[in-house]
Amino acid sequence: IIGNLPPKEGRILYMACVDPHLVSGADVVIDSNPKLVESLEKVQTAFLRRLLGLGAYSMRAPLFTELGLIPLSYRRIILALRYVGYLVDPKTSPYARAALEDSYNLYLNSHQGYWMDLALVMSKLRYPVALPGLTGLTPDLCADLAKEVHKSALKHLDGEVQASTRLYLLHDRLEPLKDEAPQKITLILRHYLELVTNPNHRKAITRLLVSQHPLAIERMRYKSRYHRVEVPRDLRVCRFGCREIESVEHALFFCKKKTELVECRRGFVNAMQGFDPTVLTVAPWNATRVLRGLIFRRDTVCQVAKYAYKVFAIFNGEVMVWP
Ligand SMILES: [Zn+2]
Repeated sequence: IIGNLPPKEGRILYMACVDPHLVSGADVVIDSNPKLVESLEKVQTAFLRRLLGLGAYSMRAPLFTELGLIPLSYRRIILALRYVGYLVDPKTSPYARAALEDSYNLYLNSHQGYWMDLALVMSKLRYPVALPGLTGLTPDLCADLAKEVHKSALKHLDGEVQASTRLYLLHDRLEPLKDEAPQKITLILRHYLELVTNPNHRKAITRLLVSQHPLAIERMRYKSRYHRVEVPRDLRVCRFGCREIESVEHALFFCKKKTELVECRRGFVNAMQGFDPTVLTVAPWNATRVLRGLIFRRDTVCQVAKYAYKVFAIFNGEVMVWP
């Protein structure tokens, strides 16, 4: 059921029905042992993968960058910092404040406790955030610290996307916003997840963007029961026998060995030429740029998604050529 839910509604459902279970107690129990939070993170990633229609081997960072959600470990630290902000508020019960001071004194004497755990998890982030001393800490400062942790999460996710060659279509992308100029945004519910309403087309464009499609360049990357070695990139050739690498660009723009594919492409190019005339003269050197240009536009993305769905179906209809 989740797989065909529109992502916007799926996200609401996640925040209302799943997230409360995953963050329960995060304000008072700090995840000082990463192993213990792993089981909760698995629930989060499994739900988000299903919502996007991705498999278990899909990369983790795009689950968050595409749906506009923050990874659970960061969210739990932010909730703990909000709780500390509540405890240091003069309006809060002095007993709660006294307990916090007690754990801070333990920390100053190198003993374990709430404060030490919180300082530790913040220092172990990919981009660490320092927890200042309790003296002088105010609710506003705690809110600023929570923002720093949020920024650390964004930097982490941005770094993961930019460092992955598989996510080349997402590198330095500008999000096409409805009434504003395109902007670089790390976390947001992406335009294609809202605009492409056909679930099959939406899953096809998502798989294309995060490299979880059925083309050989991706499929032959993995070992399987019948194919025990990873195939070198230049041997992942087109299943229709044209000796080119079976990449996204080859399948969408250049493969001419399958009549059905060529006819399907003709219809796509005719529909797209009014938006971007370069689609008529696309060549290997600018194919990725043309493709990205058509995907990251609000008025063309539905057509690209539909075309990607049809192309993947054509390739799925033929057995891959394993070397
Ligand atoms: Zn081909």
